[in-house]
Amino acid sequence: MKRFDNSISEFKTAKEIMPGGVNSPVRAFNSVNMDALFMEEGKGSKITDIDGNEYIDYVLSWGPLILGHADEQVVSALQKMVAKGTSFGTPTVIENKLAKLVIDRVPSIEMMRMVNSGTEATMSALRAARGYTGRDKILKFEGNYHGHGDSLLIKAGSGVATLGLPDSPGVPKSVAENTITVPYNDLESVRYAFEQYGDELAAVIVEPVSGNMGVVPPENGFLQGLREITEEHGTVLIFDEVMSGFRVGYNSAQGHFGVTPDMTCLGKVIGGGLPVGAYGGKREIMETIAPVGKVYQAGTLSGNPLAMTAGYETLRQMTEDTYGTIEKKVDRLVEGFREAADENDIPLAINRAGSMVGVFFNDNDVTNFETAGNSDTERFAKYYRGMIEEGIFLPPSQFEGLFLSAAHTDEDIEKTVSAVKKVFKKL
Ligand code: PMP
Repeated sequence: MKRFDNSISEFKTAKEIMPGGVNSPVRAFNSVNMDALFMEEGKGSKITDIDGNEYIDYVLSWGPLILGHADEQVVSALQKMVAKGTSFGTPTVIENKLAKLVIDRVPSIEMMRMVNSGTEATMSALRAARGYTGRDKILKFEGNYHGHGDSLLIKAGSGVATLGLPDSPGVPKSVAENTITVPYNDLESVRYAFEQYGDELAAVIVEPVSGNMGVVPPENGFLQGLREITEEHGTVLIFDEVMSGFRVGYNSAQGHFGVTPDMTCLGKVIGGGLPVGAYGGKREIMETIAPVGKVYQAGTLSGNPLAMTAGYETLRQMTEDTYGTIEKKVDRLVEGFREAADENDIPLAINRAGSMVGVFFNDNDVTNFETAGNSDTERFAKYYRGMIEEGIFLPPSQFEGLFLSAAHTDEDIEKTVSAVKKVFKKL
């Protein structure tokens, strides 16, 4: 049995000084009935806690670390940059470099702005869409999570789903009234909402691959349908690619599925493990942003050179081949989960997109928030604790996906598959 004495002791201290002992809710491990683990260092695919236990890491800081932990080129570029200064509050050349790279790879982005988190990216994109259209209402999907901005914290996924808080107190009614929610993958409901509110809708915001109710890919035609309906009504289509951006493929989910939105939100991978978000899109919409236009959005540390360096050095190394190599590892991991499920008669639904994998203890296919919600969360918790004992670090919720990195080796995958088989036998 592993020992977690140091984590248990630090978590006790943390709970006295931070709500739930954490700076972001899902880190508290509530839904798997464990104390949170405190990590000390990471290298490649491995992460080590403060009791010295090593794990193969499928959390990767919740997605950003597509090259794995402490990638040598990222670390070395950061060391050089930090020696020159940490932030200047002026434009820097590295901002141009990262923005050009992003514009080059993401089909919808003609112009962009850097911010400091995914939450800021989606809040700012919504404001731009509202400013551009002069409309107030937005449409989002149940179980999609777009950060914790007021307009978007309604029937959201991620920690909101894990903790069962669909309508957070603190969001004014007057704001919530402007957010319409419909089921994911359900174009009929979208059409119905447009019949009722069509010309009042400033934006439709969607995760083109949903990653915050576990991983749920778009069904055939869903994204195309959204593109057609929004175009008919002059509504801005926003893809929230904070998670799927540069993870689902070289050209992000929009490139992979061949549907180009009007605006895109990014985060996670584009920061290479430092705090970065970004939003961008059609030039005409982005030119509503100050100081060119009148829609205001700003940030003291936005585009800061350390974060830009980590993002640039990460994306620079991500070639189309790298994505292909990671996907082969995903193939084997998914196959291993299927073998383990069959051998032990465990009902399992598995979804995947690029290097995101969703594993649900569920009898049926998972295509939306409702079907994801039928998963057996008690069985998940038991499985989770078993996997920790086996040295595999997974996101501590049934409603979060696994991430793979370029640093995961075939050996890591085989070890993980063996661990799954061992743990499934005891479920
Ligand atoms: N959008 C999506 C799709 C996300 O997955 C997340 C975070 N998991 C966010 C927005 C919010 O990003 P952040 O946590 O950086 O504010």
